[in-house]
Amino acid sequence: MRLSRFPLATTKETPSDAEIISHQLMLRAGFIRKLGAGLYTWLPIGLRVLKKVENIVREEMDRAGALEVLMPTIQPGELWKESGRWDVMGYEMLRFKDRHKNDFCYAPTAEEVITFHVRQDIRSYRQLPINYYQIQTKFRDERRPRFGLMRGREFLMKDAYSFHMDAEDLSREYYNMREAYIRVFTRVGAAFRAVKADSGNIGGALSEEFHILANSGEDLLAVAEGGTYAANVEAAECKPTGKRAAASAALEKVSTPGQKTCDQVSKFLNVPLTGKVKLLVVHAAEGQPHALIGIALRGDHQLNEVKASKHPKVKSPFKMATPEEVQAAFGCETGYLGPIKCPIPVIADHAAFEVADFVCGANENDHHLKGANWGRDAEEPETADLRAIVEGDASPDGVGVIKFYRGIEGGHVFQLGKKYSKAMNLTVLDEKGQAVTPEMGCYGIGVSRLVAAVLEQSNDAGGMIWPDAIAPFRVIVCPIGMDKSEAVKAAAEKLYADLNAAGIETALDDRGARPGSMFADADLIGIPHRVVIGDKSLATAQFEYKSRKAEKAEMIPASLEAVLEK
Ligand code: ATP
Ligand code: MG
Ligand code: MG
Ligand code: MG
Repeated sequence: MRLSRFPLATTKETPSDAEIISHQLMLRAGFIRKLGAGLYTWLPIGLRVLKKVENIVREEMDRAGALEVLMPTIQPGELWKESGRWDVMGYEMLRFKDRHKNDFCYAPTAEEVITFHVRQDIRSYRQLPINYYQIQTKFRDERRPRFGLMRGREFLMKDAYSFHMDAEDLSREYYNMREAYIRVFTRVGAAFRAVKADSGNIGGALSEEFHILANSGEDLLAVAEGGTYAANVEAAECKPTGKRAAASAALEKVSTPGQKTCDQVSKFLNVPLTGKVKLLVVHAAEGQPHALIGIALRGDHQLNEVKASKHPKVKSPFKMATPEEVQAAFGCETGYLGPIKCPIPVIADHAAFEVADFVCGANENDHHLKGANWGRDAEEPETADLRAIVEGDASPDGVGVIKFYRGIEGGHVFQLGKKYSKAMNLTVLDEKGQAVTPEMGCYGIGVSRLVAAVLEQSNDAGGMIWPDAIAPFRVIVCPIGMDKSEAVKAAAEKLYADLNAAGIETALDDRGARPGSMFADADLIGIPHRVVIGDKSLATAQFEYKSRKAEKAEMIPASLEAVLEK
């Protein structure tokens, strides 16, 4: 690709509304553009990465024996009523009616639709097992779309659904998919962990998530060092200990809404506070304290007296209140909560304790307390990834010591059992002609999220660092003074043509930019290999080569072979 024909929309400035590095870099490098909350357009260079990830997922699903299908993104509400999920999906499911007043939804997932098709097409045990997958857009009206593609509302998911005559065969396919996932996550270049997971509203017994380890991850993982135990804390048997336990205990103590003295709270929060502080507990369900809101009250701008647990907004089950909700719950003026950025002054359950670098409210502008933490040292772990953040007890299985990591859920495999097949009356005839309700498995990968997640692990001050397998281009050829030197122009054109002919996707920076800005762009978009061609090096029959990961460039012979060796 000639960059002159492929305009790069790169910027130096960090977009102010992007909180995490992957989101910032994807905006800066012109990979994506925001259309609305949780809605993003993929620009040409970004789309190349998305397609690479998609193809790796496709290759591994095909290799594992799954069959690709493509189902509509618009689904009849009738099917969701059959499964019983129409009423439990809540606001995450986008619903609408057609001109005949029939209910529809935009697919958040597709268990119902695939079960409908299998019910029509699969009659005999001879046709099972079968595993159908698709790579298709999903929409979930997330309460808090954020972090760009990490938690979008519209996103690309690979979803697979398998059907089996018995639980044993389901288990076989589950491990087959698990292996395929390990290959996918390895091939995209992610450092990941498979962990025991909570099944959420999809249902079913056994389930595991594949997490990309990164401090920006929204999930907390309990992983045994020196053992094999690993679980999302949502599903972990191990209870937090040490500082974490102290924090939980403190939460218990203050879990009655009301005012506490500043000293008590200050001690608990480990941040200096002045004036009075109001603490409110948010209940996930009746009698289950779920989150604690701390508001510093100052001067005569006292906040309205609101008993959070009695407030209708706060009573409804939610994990993290949005600024709007906090505002509604506290009845404060608009201007007041404006400066509060997410993570907002809500500390959720144990799972969120370590995220807690929150901004604590104050009722005056510029008096917000930033970086408040519950029961842990204020400083962040140094490295962006892979560092255990808290040490815990012995592993529940007795092998190893638990450490807690943050993770980004990139994939999820489930043994669903008969939940959907039973609810939707799917039966298949066995050898004896008896109707049997098949066992089901389902397996998801967040394809667009995976692009962002890999980037969270793979970047530096210069920008993105793409692993070869998913880079938008493998090599970038940067000619210096191409317009002035025929020799440079000829050598660059030849190398560019030869590399592409050899099957190496290559970009030629023929925009006539100065070397500095040419290199800065190549670094920002994260091309793994850079070849610089100039009159000076050509004089000694050499190219300058630099790996995106290396600190320094090196000289190599001016030949295709020498470049290919890299
Ligand atoms: P999360 O816990 O992050 O909300 P989930 O458990 O609701 O994810 P699943 O129903 O397991 O998601 O969907 C399969 C995969 O789809 C997830 O593992 C994740 O990678 C991806 N995914 C889910 N929600 C989103 C989203 N809002 N934006 C991007 N990817 C998503
Ligand atoms: Mg979700
Ligand atoms: Mg999840
Ligand atoms: Mg999940």
